[in-house]
Formats: sequence, C-alpha cells, structure tokens
Amino acid sequence: MLIEQPPMLLRKLYPGALWRMNPDEHAVYLTFDDGPIPEVTPWVLDLLDDRDVKATFFMVGDNVRKYPAEFRRVVERGHRVGNHTFNHIRGFSRRYFTSAAYLDNTERAQHIMGAANRGSETEKPLFRPPHGHMGWAQYMTLKKRFRIVMWDLVTRDYSKKLRPPQVLANVMRYARNGSIITFHDSLKSWTNGNLQYALPRAIDFLKEEGYTFKLL
Ligand SMILES: [Zn+2]
Repeated sequence: MLIEQPPMLLRKLYPGALWRMNPDEHAVYLTFDDGPIPEVTPWVLDLLDDRDVKATFFMVGDNVRKYPAEFRRVVERGHRVGNHTFNHIRGFSRRYFTSAAYLDNTERAQHIMGAANRGSETEKPLFRPPHGHMGWAQYMTLKKRFRIVMWDLVTRDYSKKLRPPQVLANVMRYARNGSIITFHDSLKSWTNGNLQYALPRAIDFLKEEGYTFKLL
C-alpha cells in the first residue's frame, strides 16, 4: 500500500475528512505536525518567512503547554493552528479507545490553544488525528466538533529509513493540485537531517512549478 499518497480505499474510511483540497486549483497546503518545539519550530518559521509561505501547524497540546513562546510565535507570524491531541494519542490504544477518553484528551489541547484554534461561525476548529488513527465511533464523535484534516501527501520526513533526497523526491513525485502536504517540526525529522534538506528544496520546487501556498 502506498504510504506517501494514501489510496482511495483509506480515504473512503473517513469520508467527511479532508484529504485533498480543490483538484482544479494549482495550490498546495503545507502542514507541520507534532510541534511546537524550540529545537525545530523557530527554524521552520524563519524559513517560511524567508520564502513568504504560510502553513498550518497541527500541534500537540503538551508541547504548547511546555513551549508557550514557540506557540505564540507560530500564531503571531500568521500561520494557522490545528489540534493534534494533548498527548499525541493513538486512537486504537486501549487507554483512549472510547470516544469519550479520546475526545477528552483532544479537548485538553483545545483548551490550551484557546482562540488560536477556535474556528469561526462557518468553520469548525481544525483537528488531525495522530498516526491517522481513528476508530469509527471516535471519528463520528470528532467530526461533529472538528474539521478533520488528513493528508494527500506525507513526506515521511520522520523516517530513519529515508535519506533526505528521498523525502524531497516524495514531494516532487506526489505533489499535485490541492495537495495537503505533511511535514513534521519534530526531533525525529530534525535529527535525521530530512527536514533541513527537504523542506527548503520542496518549497522552491513547488514555487518553480507555479503552485501557490494556501492555508486550510
Ligand atoms: Zn503526529
């Protein structure tokens, strides 16, 4: 099964979730998961400013708690914030298996993000499930409360098995109109060198291909 570009079968499991935006629009949607952390997030923000690109950050609530300055910096620089649960929980783990337990952890993250991810009159707050895991009951509960965002392309920057040029190659191969592209502002993506190599080159490639960068 393709990991980088999820197959239709998987997308149909969560039909109300966003996997890809308008396929007729020559635009992509950069997203960053698992931050904010002081070791990586400021570097990403400087790069995005340098390239004049806005992105959406799906944050772990406990990181927001630990690193409020980095959290504020993301918001102040005009990026969008989404909920990635408080403890980066797995929907299939025994501890969070009930919808109530899962939602409770997610609401803790909502609480600490406050107005940064409150949504609007017409749009619900953003949410992305860690690992893409949601049981059916969890999904049905979450979708009433949140706009659930999956991805059209996961770069696999976090993977120790991938060398930096392979991460870049994933973007060059799979990016298309309306792609929601996932990177990680995490230590995993940083210590293997994948993010530092692939992100600037991916942005430059996408710009050369004429894509605009949009916020979810
Ligand atoms: Zn994650």
